[in-house]
Amino acid sequence: MAKLNPGVVYGEDYRTLLSACKDGAHALPAVNVVGTNSVNAVLEAAARNKSDIIIQLSNGGAQFFAGQGMADVDAARVMGAVSAAQHVHLLARHYGVCVVLHTDHANRKLLPWIDGLITEGERYYKTNGRPLYTSHMLDLSEETLEDNLSICADYLQRMVPLEMSLEIELGVTGGEEDGVGTDLDETDNAKLYTQPDEVLQAYDRLSPIGHFSIAASFGNVHGVYKPGNVQLRPEILKGSQELVRTTHATRANPLDLVFHGGSGSEKAKIEEAIGYGVFKMNIDTDTQFAFASAVGGYVDENPKAFKFQIDPDDDTPYKSKYDPRKWLRQGELGVVERLDEAIVDLRSAGKSLAMS
Ligand SMILES: [Zn+2]
Repeated sequence: MAKLNPGVVYGEDYRTLLSACKDGAHALPAVNVVGTNSVNAVLEAAARNKSDIIIQLSNGGAQFFAGQGMADVDAARVMGAVSAAQHVHLLARHYGVCVVLHTDHANRKLLPWIDGLITEGERYYKTNGRPLYTSHMLDLSEETLEDNLSICADYLQRMVPLEMSLEIELGVTGGEEDGVGTDLDETDNAKLYTQPDEVLQAYDRLSPIGHFSIAASFGNVHGVYKPGNVQLRPEILKGSQELVRTTHATRANPLDLVFHGGSGSEKAKIEEAIGYGVFKMNIDTDTQFAFASAVGGYVDENPKAFKFQIDPDDDTPYKSKYDPRKWLRQGELGVVERLDEAIVDLRSAGKSLAMS
């Protein structure tokens, strides 16, 4: 099997990595991060499971990375994403795994964010000879198919010289990810489930330009809901793969598919989706909860340390308990444990392509 240098992968190496996922019937968790605590927890989970990993930032996550107090929100969105990427470029190889760097949903309103990132990416490429991000996502699923594909084609054109890839969205993932989302009429199957002929049009339009992946809808929803509210139909992905394969006489599962809204999904459906060419599963809601619940548990165990520096009854100093490293570390460990589980679900443990 091909081996890659540990660290951020892009271009040819990225395509090698995702082909290995599809050939080996496993997928990589794509985890939304908001700061160095979450980035480091994701790297730790990847390293200890010997799994490659995808680290991604939403526009809000990027803004938070720069600092919620930064007055210029548009600049914060761009510079936060640059800062996060630089942190990952610097540290990833020391964790000994391959890392894909990606940005999450950008709808029409957020195109200026992507413009800013590509401009920064061009500057970064000129200096370092590699892209700042492996790929960006454009979510133009609210636009007409023609607008969606022609805007995606323009962006891909601009990203190819930087050895970057593009993730597009066809059909609609239900719910909302960081302010990008659609109120869905559950009866509107045409939107909720990606249509194979739209996928074929995307393939015909974009594959001559460069590499792209597709966030395809098969009933998936952002967020976690009561069981029974979400009907996942991964077999819907098979139709798209088959149409492209038979039309263009390609290999099996020619499309690189992405599973949005992975949190809270049934394990059997995840496994089925991987069989239809899903190489990336987004997870955000479940890791957010894992962080919060671990910190909450720590606060419950040490309630006085969060109210008093010194115990009012027996003068015990609480410095060693309220030190932010203590409780932030608990949050990190919560994320690591949740990702242990995701890595098992996606069968990527022990499959890292990184040379040791
Ligand atoms: Zn999503």
